[in-house]
Amino acid sequence: SPLSQPGDAPASAALLERARAVTPGGVNSPVRAFRAVGGTPRFMASGRGPWLTDVDGREYVDLVCSWGPMILGHAHPAVLEAVRDAAGRGFSFGTPSENEVLLAEEIVDRVGPVDRVRLVSSGTEATMSAIRLARGFTGRSLVVKFAGHYHGHVDSLLVSAGSGLATFALPDSAGVPAEMAAETIVVPYNDVPALEAVFAARGGEIACVITEAAAGNMGVVPPQPGFTQALRRVTAEHGALLVSDEVMTGFRVGRAGWWGHEGVDVAPDLMTFGKVMGGGFPAAAFGGRADVMALLAPDGPVYQAGTLSGNPVATAAGLATLRACDDALYARLGEVARAIADAASAALSDAGVPHRVQWAGSMFSVFFREGEVRTYDDARAQDAAAFGRFFHAMLDAGVYLPPSAFESWFVSGAHDDAAVERVVAALPAAARAAASG
Ligand code: PMP
Repeated sequence: SPLSQPGDAPASAALLERARAVTPGGVNSPVRAFRAVGGTPRFMASGRGPWLTDVDGREYVDLVCSWGPMILGHAHPAVLEAVRDAAGRGFSFGTPSENEVLLAEEIVDRVGPVDRVRLVSSGTEATMSAIRLARGFTGRSLVVKFAGHYHGHVDSLLVSAGSGLATFALPDSAGVPAEMAAETIVVPYNDVPALEAVFAARGGEIACVITEAAAGNMGVVPPQPGFTQALRRVTAEHGALLVSDEVMTGFRVGRAGWWGHEGVDVAPDLMTFGKVMGGGFPAAAFGGRADVMALLAPDGPVYQAGTLSGNPVATAAGLATLRACDDALYARLGEVARAIADAASAALSDAGVPHRVQWAGSMFSVFFREGEVRTYDDARAQDAAAFGRFFHAMLDAGVYLPPSAFESWFVSGAHDDAAVERVVAALPAAARAAASG
C-alpha cells in the first residue's frame, strides 16, 4: 500500500518537518497528527464538494468534513458567495452587525428551548461560558459530566473518572489544577442509578449536568431511551441546570439538532452549538432560557466577551450554511450515511472482522468490536490496531476517514454517487487489511 510507506506523501512529509520546527507536533490540534494510526498526516491544499486534495496532488473522498462543519461539502457556491460578499465589506468591526442578528434568529427559530443566544468563536468557549453561567445562576460550583464526553479543552471539563462508579475527577491533562478537576464529578454515560446516587449525595452543590446530546467523541453512542428524560428529571428535582452540548449534533442530525429528535419533554436549560453553525469558520454559540441568559453581561453579573465574537464573515458563512440545511439536505445525508455504513458493515462481515455500527441521526461510527456500546468502557474495548490497518488501506484508496477509532464519520450534501462509489469500492480490501493483524 504505497501511501502508507514513509516518503510516499513527500510534500506532506516535507511540510510536517517544517511545521514541527515551529509548532509542537507540527499540528494545531492533536488528532491531526495521526498519532493513533501512524503514518504521515496529509496536508490538504484544497477542497471541493466531497473531495479533498492534498499537497501531493492526491484526491480523497472526505469523511471527516472538518469534524462536522462542512455539511454542504467544501467551497459550497452559496456559502462562498456569502463569504466573498461579507469579506468585501470588511472583516471585523468590533461593533454589532446585522448578520449576528440574522444568525441568532435562525438558531432561536430552529431550536425550541433557545430563547436567547450569544455568539462566540469556538465550541470550547461555548461550553466554558455555559458552565460559568450555570454557576452564576445557581450559586453552586460542582459540574457533572459523563465519561467519554468531550466538551472542548475547558480546564474543569478536561477530566476523566478515577476509580469507582462515580468519582471526583482527575485531571486528564497536565496543567489542570487538581482543585479545578475536583469541581467536576464524572459519571458513567447512560447510567441513571449512578447519576441519582451522585445527586442524592451532593445534589445541593451541583450547578449543572453537561452532556453531549448524543455522544460523538467516543465514537457515536446515543443516549439510551429515557436517559435524557432522566437527566431532565433529576436536575430539575435538585435545582441544577441541564446543559446539552450540541456542538457536534446541532444542525447536523436534523433541523433542530438532537433536541429535534427527542422532543419538547427534554428541553434543556442551556445548549451549546458550533461546527455547522459556522459553516467552516470560527463561530459557535451558547443559549437557552431567557431568565438564565439574562444574567450575562451587560445585563447581568456573569461576564463573557470576545473581540471576534459574531464576526461578520463567520456569521455570513454560518447563516448561508444553515439556510441551505433544509429537509432535502437532511434526507440526503441520511441516504449517503446509510449507503456507506451498510457497505462498511458488509465488507467487515465478509472479512470476518468483529464490528458494530452505531447511529445518531446521520452521524455514525464503526466500532471494531461486537455488541452494543453504551459507555466509555464499552467504546474503549475495541481493536484499535485493526482500525489503524483499515484506516490506512482506505487512505491509500483515496478515502479520508477520521484518523482515530473514537470518532464519528461525517458526510455532506455534496457526497454524490461518484464519491459514495469510491468509498464502497475501497471497503473490501480495507476490511481484509483490518482482518490481517
Ligand atoms: N463539544 C463537543 C460535543 C464537541 O464535539 C467539540 C469539538 N469536537 C467541542 C465541544 C469543542 O469545540 P471546539 O473544538 O470548537 O472548541
